[in-house]
Amino acid sequence: MRRVRVFGHPDAASLSYYGLHALQHRGEESCGICTSNEGEFHYHRGMGLVKEVFDRDRLVSLTGTNAIGHVRYSTAGASKLANAQPLVFKYREGDLAVCTNGNLVNEPIIRRELEESGSIFQTTSDTEVIAHLIARSPKPLVEAVREAFSRLVGGFAFLIMTKDKLIAACDPNGLRPMVMGRLGNAYIFSSETCAFETIGAEYVRDVQPGELLVLDKDGLHEDRYASENNQRAVCAMEYIYFARPDSDIGTINLHTSRKRMGRQLAVESFVDADIVTGVPDSSISAAIGYAEQTGIPYELGLIKNKYTGRTFIQPSQELREKGVKMKLSAVRKVVEGKRVVMIDDSIVRGTTSLRIVNLLREAGALEVHVRITSPPFANPCYYGIDTPDRRDLIASSKTVEEIRKAINADSLYFLSDQGLIDSVGGHDGEKNRGLCLGCFTNDYPTQVEFEHAKATSCSCD
Ligand code: SF4
Repeated sequence: MRRVRVFGHPDAASLSYYGLHALQHRGEESCGICTSNEGEFHYHRGMGLVKEVFDRDRLVSLTGTNAIGHVRYSTAGASKLANAQPLVFKYREGDLAVCTNGNLVNEPIIRRELEESGSIFQTTSDTEVIAHLIARSPKPLVEAVREAFSRLVGGFAFLIMTKDKLIAACDPNGLRPMVMGRLGNAYIFSSETCAFETIGAEYVRDVQPGELLVLDKDGLHEDRYASENNQRAVCAMEYIYFARPDSDIGTINLHTSRKRMGRQLAVESFVDADIVTGVPDSSISAAIGYAEQTGIPYELGLIKNKYTGRTFIQPSQELREKGVKMKLSAVRKVVEGKRVVMIDDSIVRGTTSLRIVNLLREAGALEVHVRITSPPFANPCYYGIDTPDRRDLIASSKTVEEIRKAINADSLYFLSDQGLIDSVGGHDGEKNRGLCLGCFTNDYPTQVEFEHAKATSCSCD
């Protein structure tokens, strides 16, 4: 779930629209925009892509200088319109619009407490929990938000809009990224910097873990709700797979770090071959790196049909299976008679990898050597990357050799933990150089086991 928010621009809705377009890769199930016109809220949400849900007339109706927008794929909560964001609520001081990226690990506990004390929920989205916490507090808004956030455990980035304020905050470990930019006098927040490029905004800085940024008519107020001393743990899958290659997290460009992953894979697991190819789109940068390191030519052995969705974010296994056949083709003239190194970002269930290897074989590849830019994905994610139950993660129960056989590859290698950490090249002196590696190491930066709490499930691979 990803957001764009604009504060203080006469055409806030259009900026949100174009920003959400740039973030479409992060969620294709539903989207929405809410604007505030001198305290009067206008909003629209729908199922589907940004270009399908919004047209010119709809955007014109969303008047106002402040806006928040969202594209969603379901991690917690079902894929249905009621859970599309932003969610808009009435509270004692007027309207409140909320959108989030990520997942609250202790949401079931807080929800139950709230229900037992009289709250009635309209959605199954954990975003509604934060709205209830804020609405029930007798304190002024910013204090209520600070108090509410201090109860949350998980990986999240929140945006809250009221009639006269916009509040942005990240979880205490910085698991989910959020960046701040400027366009003239307006402030823009986004999950990724690629949205800034699209709308012509200038990157200012990343929102820091535990920060609470408040925008109002007097400008930006920088505050915190959590200590600066928490372990920084940015989701490693943002670097490996999720973010667009033209985005930066901190000073690190995603294309560049993925190329380093490819180079590192070549150092750790060279194999003699005729061509290197990457599974589009997220593994192309790494394939280029592998080719540069080995001298084996990079070729477009696999082509993506751009008019189908990402399999990772489609919500059912049946849709995923159809999606793979629709979206990828092997280029026979390129791979026929060749020994192919195929670079991919992860193996989750193994079903997608098997199909892609078989696509290459059916197109005449003599050998298919699979190289993965992440360590084995053996544990679930609790922080908003949708993963199956542990038992459905192929690496949780099979050795690398058993996975190799299951995906029909001639050889298989996963990037080492340290190779990944070094390739990203994050913060010196911090654990894992500031990365979360929980789904690889089973060592999470927060408490993850709560009564009634469990990992999100389940639409990847
Ligand atoms: S557990 Fe894995 S997918 Fe989840 S936040 Fe950590 S690195 Fe990312």
